[in-house]
Parts: sequence; structure tokens; C-alpha cells
Amino acid sequence: MKSQYFTEEHELFRQSVRQFFDKEVVPNADKWEQERRIPKEIFQKMGEQGYLGINFSEEFGGINADFWYSVVFLEELGRTNLAGFTTAVSVHQYMAINHIAEVGSYELKQQYLAPAIRGEKVAALGITEPGTGSDVANITTKAERDGDHYVINGSKTFISNGTYGDFITLACKTAPQMGMGGISLIVVDLDAPGVTRTKLNKMGWHSSDTAEISFDNVRVPLSNIIGQENMGFYYLMGSLQLERLVAAIMAVPGAQGIVDHTLQYLHERQAFNRPLAKFQVIRHTIAELSTEIEMARQMVYNSCWLHSEGEVIVKEASMAKLYASELVNRTVDRCLQFFGGYGYMEDYPICRMYRDARVGTIAGGTSEIMKEIISKVVIDGVKFGAVYQGNNKKSTAK
Ligand SMILES: Cc1cc2nc3c(=O)[nH]c(=O)nc-3n(C[C@H](O)[C@H](O)[C@H](O)COP(=O)(O)OP(=O)(O)OC[C@H]3O[C@@H](n4cnc5c(N)ncnc54)[C@H](O)[C@@H]3O)c2cc1C
Repeated sequence: MKSQYFTEEHELFRQSVRQFFDKEVVPNADKWEQERRIPKEIFQKMGEQGYLGINFSEEFGGINADFWYSVVFLEELGRTNLAGFTTAVSVHQYMAINHIAEVGSYELKQQYLAPAIRGEKVAALGITEPGTGSDVANITTKAERDGDHYVINGSKTFISNGTYGDFITLACKTAPQMGMGGISLIVVDLDAPGVTRTKLNKMGWHSSDTAEISFDNVRVPLSNIIGQENMGFYYLMGSLQLERLVAAIMAVPGAQGIVDHTLQYLHERQAFNRPLAKFQVIRHTIAELSTEIEMARQMVYNSCWLHSEGEVIVKEASMAKLYASELVNRTVDRCLQFFGGYGYMEDYPICRMYRDARVGTIAGGTSEIMKEIISKVVIDGVKFGAVYQGNNKKSTAK
């Protein structure tokens, strides 16, 4: 479909990303799901293509492209309909290393950002703890100064890339008495002494590894602080709008993929001497879902445009994440129904899509939290300011 947002160059980039995923990822979906992990080599292959540093500086190996290249990349990720893989890659590039790229020191960029862009090191983001998820200000993992080191104690849970990843952008309390103003982001090597990782067993997203990680007197140089001490909460809030936008961008082609996959079945499967695609009730459901997907797509593109114009899009990103992730769930629930009993069988990809969709309204901020944020803006008139926006270079598109 023609779009006002993408240039010919963006579309050429789309073709190359699509070919890459069709060759390197889609055929491996079942294997990676069964093995409950993604091989690290796929990160290296993406690194070689420049896919892991799309908006980052060339000095550290990035390609310094405009934000619409990221939109293309994320849409193609979503199109794989392999949510475990899309999570691993999007967390790495848009939720973990982006903080280092934005405010990290030159040394941190050399030591962690550059190898992450090359795909040699895989990154995780550690905010959620066993005792608190939505309420970020109440985390209790502590980093205390001891000479030229921090000593870290505490635990994190539900951490994507947590088992096989190489390092984590860790949210810790450096001034526990200061609440949200006492949080810092610190880079921690995941093989450091005192780090214990336990892989978690999930309903879906099987190919992404998700871990509980405990930190027992883990010593980290003071120089591993990302940006300024005690600014971590604001950095996180600044990037959460990008995180939510990223989730929404990937959700739209995910929903579209579910419909496209279902349409194939509706044309093939017969009942009462007709293909299922000829039953009006099914046709109307597909028509409704397609309309909603198009609405979500336009909403997401508008949010991307505002983001690329440097606007603070806390409200728009929250709305886009809320609407798109709920839509994926509605879409897969209705589509699975049309597969009849086969939809409930693991051999059918719709079964995995159903399992994978469920967490979309939970991870990266729940639907309830999205509604809380939207309410604050539209009811209470709260205005959010920019901390940093990340990745929002303007497109050359007219
Ligand atoms: C597969 C997976 C991968 C994840 N990856 C990561 C990761 O890489 N890094 C990371 O840091 N975290 C990660 N998470 C954690 C995720 O972001 C949290 O699960 C999420 O933010 C919710 O936190 P919680 O699970 O502690 O739920 P809680 O905060 O305990 O919430 C429980 C319920 O209460 C509701 N609730 C809470 N507060 C309010 C309120 N004020 N008003 C109304 N309702 C409310 C919530 O919406 C939810 O329904 C991941 C989670 C999963 C499942």
C-alpha cells in the first residue's frame, strides 16, 4: 500500500530486511520455539547487516538512519509472527542499549554499545522485580558505593534475554530514601560473580528466554553508571514512550499476519460444500478486524511521525500500545475460532500465535497502566516533558 511516510529507500530497506527474516528466521521458528532459545549467531548475522544499530552513531558501528528505518525494521520483525524472537531483538536494541547510546560515557559505548550493535553481545533490561512491576519507583535492588565500585544486591524477574544475554541495563536504587529520584541505571555483566540466573517457564514467547536474576554482592565499577546517578527513573520514563511505540509498531503487522494466515485456511477448508471464506459471519468478522488493524496502523504511524518530529508522545504511545496489543488479542481469539478444533492443536501456527498474543497487554506496561497514563493526560491535564526521546531522527520523506 502507498504511504506518505516511507521513501523508496525505506522500501528497499524493507525488502532486504524481509528477505533476511524469510531466510534466516521464519524457517527456524519451530526449532527455536522447541529449544526455548534463539541462537546467538542470529544476533551476529543481524549485526553484520547493520540491523542492530539503525539509529545509532556510525562511530560505534550504527547506521545513523532516520526513525522510519526503525519503523520498517520493527514492522518486518512483527511480520515474522514469532513473538519470542521479536521480543529478544526489540528489547536488545530499543530498550536496553538505547540508554547507553543516549547518555552513556564514551567508554561504555565502546565496551557495550559497539559489540551490541555488532551482535556480539546481547543486552537485557532489568526493571521488574518479584515484588514490583508496574510501580517502578518502588524497586528495592540496591547499588551501594564501596570505593570505586558499586555493590549490588537484589533481584529482578521476567527479564527478557536474561538467561543467555551478556549484560543488563539494570535499574537500581542508589539513594533508597529518595524514591523515584534515587534510581540509577547501571550496566552489569551477566556472568559477573554473584549473579544467578534462573530460566522461567512461560505460557508463550517460548523462543525468547526470560529469567529471574539475583544479585548477591555483585561488584561493578562506578564507571558503569549510565548517565547521571539518580537520574535512572527519568531516563526510563523518557524511553518508555519509545518502548510502547515499538510494541505497537510490531503489533500491527502481527495482527495482520494472523488475519492473512487465517485467510489461507478459510479459502482451503470446506464446510457444507463451501469454503469457510464464503460464510457471511466469518467474512464480516474478517472485515471488522481488517478495519481495526488499519485504524491501528494509522494511529501508530501518526505517533511515529510525532516522535520523529521530536514531540513528547507519552499519551499517543500509551494509546497506541493499549489499542494495538488489545487488538492482537481480539484478532487471534476470533481467528482461532475459525480453525475449529485444529486451532487448538500445537501443530497449527495459530495455536502459538494465540499463546504469544496474551502477554502483549502485560509486558512493557499493562493495559491498566496505559489507561492510567492516558487518564492523567486527558482528565488531569498532566503534561509530560522530554528527558530524551531516543531514535527520533527525522525522515527524509516528504
Ligand atoms: C514474558 C515477559 C517478558 C518481560 N520482559 C521484561 C524485561 O525484559 N524487563 C523488565 O524489566 N520487565 C519485563 N517484564 C515485566 C513486565 O513489564 C511486567 O510484568 C509488567 O510491567 C507488570 O508488572 P507485574 O507483573 O509486576 O504486575 P503488577 O504491577 O503486580 O500488576 C498486577 C495487576 O495489577 C494491575 N495494576 C497495577 N497497578 C495498577 C494501577 N495503578 N491501576 C490499575 N491496575 C493496576 C496491573 O495492570 C495488573 O493487571 C516482562 C514480563 C513478561 C511476562
